[in-house]
Amino acid sequence: MRTEFDLIIVGGGPTGAAAGVFTARYGFDTLVLDRGRSSLRRIAHLENYLGFPGGIDIETFYELAHAHAEQSGCEVVGDLAEAVERTEDGFRVRTDEGRVLHTKRVLAASKYDTGHLEGLDDDLFTTKHYNGEAYEILDQKVIGDDGRTNVDGLYVAGSLAKAGSQALTNAGHGATVGLTIIEDDRRDRGFPNELAAAYHDWVVVEGGYGGDDWEQNLHDQFDDALPEETNLSEREIDELRSEFVDEHRAWQITPGEKERRRVEGYRKLAARLDANLLLEQLDDDHVLQRARQIDAERNLRSK
Ligand SMILES: Cc1cc2nc3c(=O)[nH]c(=O)nc-3n(C[C@H](O)[C@H](O)[C@H](O)COP(=O)(O)OP(=O)(O)OC[C@H]3O[C@@H](n4cnc5c(N)ncnc54)[C@H](O)[C@@H]3O)c2cc1C
Repeated sequence: MRTEFDLIIVGGGPTGAAAGVFTARYGFDTLVLDRGRSSLRRIAHLENYLGFPGGIDIETFYELAHAHAEQSGCEVVGDLAEAVERTEDGFRVRTDEGRVLHTKRVLAASKYDTGHLEGLDDDLFTTKHYNGEAYEILDQKVIGDDGRTNVDGLYVAGSLAKAGSQALTNAGHGATVGLTIIEDDRRDRGFPNELAAAYHDWVVVEGGYGGDDWEQNLHDQFDDALPEETNLSEREIDELRSEFVDEHRAWQITPGEKERRRVEGYRKLAARLDANLLLEQLDDDHVLQRARQIDAERNLRSK
């Protein structure tokens, strides 16, 4: 297994998996460590996560969330982060199974567990008393809404950052913090502030954007956003401008590519959801009713 990453996410629940989908698609070498106490696994049946009208059992949801993170490029490993330590150019993460990993950035999405963050910075924690006992908890004063903390390169997301107590709000916050991490990387690489923040991960059918002046507008937009004084060389500015234009070009796909992705989406879903298992969950009447429907639709088409 590799030991160097751009980002290590501690926790592969809804928060961490959602963050990883964005950072890995951006091109970050993203590792998700996932083991230990989980809130998700305590849910009897997840009934209010958007996209599953009849709710979804936790095993299937977890499998799909991890498959999505992996498909996006994340490496997902069932190991526990025990200690996160500062290094000259980032962090060293030690795990329960003896791994010693290096990363530029760390995202804590571990809901119940903050032990691995102890020792990083005393100001990260504050003392709370409960039933006469003293507890060290993350101090919300040093965590921004976007997940940045007082420790450069350390981010916190989900319930740890007080982003609600529902799987969907936590996943949404994970995605938000993933985008914050992308913004910070773009700024570090020299993108002007407003363009560093203007990253979008989406596609449209070609023609949805564009037109004759579109590329010229993008060039102008880039140049207008450049500060008057910059440490970047002409070559670096040209490279960033090209990257900015290319990433906008990549938003557009052909109708054929749209269709290919539609079919691929179904294939991936079918591969994960065993069709026989699905059928077993449905009673015979359901299956027969659907078979008659398909038959009727076929007859109609052949007329
Ligand atoms: C009893 C109960 C019922 C609930 N019912 C619902 C519901 O019906 N609908 C709803 O929307 N929400 C429900 N919730 C809330 C939901 O579970 C949480 O909002 C959601 O799971 C939080 O996601 P998360 O990724 O932040 O944390 P978690 O789901 O807890 O995921 C964190 C992950 O991090 C891993 N981890 C922890 N520490 C480490 C470490 N040191 N190293 C590596 N990995 C680590 C854990 O194994 C876990 O997989 C319920 C919660 C509880 C407790």
